[in-house]
Parts: sequence; structure tokens; C-alpha cells
Amino acid sequence: MDKHLFADNILNWYAKNKRDLPWRHTNNPYLIWLSEVILQQTRVKQGLPYYEKFVETYPTVKDLAEADEQSVLRLWQGLGYYSRARNLHAAAKFVHEELEGKFPEDYQELLKMKGVGKYTASAIASFAYNEKVAVVDGNVFRVLARVFGIATDIASHKGAKEFEVLANSLLPDQQADEYNQGIMEFGALQCTPQKPNCMYCPMQSGCVAFQQGKQKELPVKIKKLKIKNRYFHYLIFEYQKNGEVFLGMKERTAKDIWSGLYDFWLEEKPALQTTEALLGENGWDDKLTSKWVIGKQSVAYKHILTHQRIQATFHHIEIPAEQAGTEFFSDLHFFKPDEIVDLPKPVLIDNYLNKNFF
Ligand code: SF4
Repeated sequence: MDKHLFADNILNWYAKNKRDLPWRHTNNPYLIWLSEVILQQTRVKQGLPYYEKFVETYPTVKDLAEADEQSVLRLWQGLGYYSRARNLHAAAKFVHEELEGKFPEDYQELLKMKGVGKYTASAIASFAYNEKVAVVDGNVFRVLARVFGIATDIASHKGAKEFEVLANSLLPDQQADEYNQGIMEFGALQCTPQKPNCMYCPMQSGCVAFQQGKQKELPVKIKKLKIKNRYFHYLIFEYQKNGEVFLGMKERTAKDIWSGLYDFWLEEKPALQTTEALLGENGWDDKLTSKWVIGKQSVAYKHILTHQRIQATFHHIEIPAEQAGTEFFSDLHFFKPDEIVDLPKPVLIDNYLNKNFF
């Protein structure tokens, strides 16, 4: 298909079909950046309330920079991929402290922000400043692969380069912002992964995939995700004092999922186990464990992440109040349930607490 015709089709289609979304009414780079980071790996319907919460709580980059990380993570809770929230916060601090609050104004400068890769930098540069640089995300790969009949693996280095060059060659001289938003919207609504609406598509006559019936085969993505199975055993250590319950929670600090969020004492094993088997296996000091009262063990909860399938069980153990301050429990912080509400937590933990304590 002729490149000018392709761009015209995108712009015309977008003018008629675009969704009315709040970040499309602004060219404030901070707000556009927020929306882009929130919407990565997230559907618009799910991301929209988070965007609204963030804009309300942190209306400027200065507000976000001055927030503490725990509050940012708490607001982010439920969106997953928490490193995005930490990078967002770190980058806001960078803009506020190193750049004196002046948001970077072009593609190359935007790339210097933590967590901002080629895609996000081109989105901000084109949407906020109308810079002529193409966005290439999953939607763009799909549309280009189908319309131009390109079978290069999009997960390969060669494919990434080839699509980037093509995408940039298609950008019209004017309206980089509208065009970039348009091609992504076109991929999200018209040329969708499973059921592209080819019957009513302006690209139909020049689309290789449509002409050759290859919509299902394009784009080609060879790399397969390896899914790892993990078995989490959460020990919920709790004690009662003056009629109040205290639960032991732990901040996750390791380089692993959910870093910076709070969960319970975690034992990870190659399979699911009973509380008794867990305690027996750990060989902890009898003087300590003989005073513990083993409570209920939950059913296994399944929690699916992109690369991991987690099965988690919760094991309730009541300990004497005086043990809570001992060396053995030094990694735990004991909180009353109403204090836990404000802690940032993985959704798996939040759901369990809501069901059992709040
Ligand atoms: S004709 Fe079908 S495959 Fe081609 S761009 Fe349109 S929706 Fe996508």
C-alpha cells in the first residue's frame, strides 16, 4: 500500500472512531507520561480509574516527586508490574531535583528518565510536542505486519529494527501526534488480535493479510514465554494483646516480584504442603514452636502473572505476645488490621486480608 494512503487512512479513521479519553485532551507531558506508564500491559478500562486517582493525588510532577514511595505503591496497588510505579516515582524525582522541575522536551532527553524506553519516549514526544517520531507497540506491529504482509519475527532484534524503520517512514510530516494515536487506536479497535474487523476496514483493498487470508498468521512472534510455577506458603503469625490482634507482615526487599510491597512470612517450596510438614521441615527451635498454636490452613489460591503461576496457601499461627519482639521475628512488623489497610500490598494478600480480617 502507498505510504501516503496508509497515513491518510489512519488519520481519517481516527478522526471518526477515536475514544474520548482524558489524556487525549491535554498536551501536558507529565499527564501523558502518567497515562502511558499506567496503560502499559493494562487495558484502558482497567487503567482509567488509576489515571484519575494519580492525577487527583499528584496533579504535578512536583507532587509525585515529593510523595513517599510507599504511598505511590499503595495507589498503584492492583495494577501489577510494580517496578513501573517505582520507576515512575524515581523519574519524577529526577525531573524535580535534577532538572529543576522542567519536563524533558524531546525524544532523546525523555529517554534519560528511568523506566522510559523507546515506546514511551516516542509517545510523549509526539503527543505532547508533536515531534516526528513513530511509536511502535504491539498494536503497531500487528497493523504493519498485516497491511504490508511482513512475516519477520516481531520478537527478534531484526524484526524490531525493520518495523521501527517502516513505522518512521510512514509518519506524515504534520500531525505526528494524531497519526501515532491513530495507528495505536486502529490496532486496539479495528485490527484486533483475534477478530479484526476486515469487512468494514479502510485498508481492505491494499491489505496483504486480508487479500491473502493471513490475518491469523500475522504478526509472527516466535519467542515463547516460559511460565514458572511457584508455591507460596504464607505463615500468618499473629498474637493478641489487650484484646487486640496483631499480624506479622514483612516488606519485600529482594529482587523479585512485588518488591517494596508487604506480605506475610513466606516459605517457598517445590510443592504445596501442610502447616505441620512446613514447620517440621524447617527444624525451628522447639522452645519457640512449642508455644505456637496452629490455626487454620487456607485452600490454595491461584494467582497468575505474565511469567509466573503462583499457588499460595495461608497458614495461621498464634504466638505468645512476648515472642513478637524476639530476634526470630526481627524481619516482621506487627500491625493491627486497621494499620495494614494503608500498606501497599500485592492483590493476592489484599484479597486474603479483606476476606479474613476486615
Ligand atoms: S483489512 Fe483486516 S487485517 Fe487488514 S488492516 Fe483492516 S482489519 Fe487489519
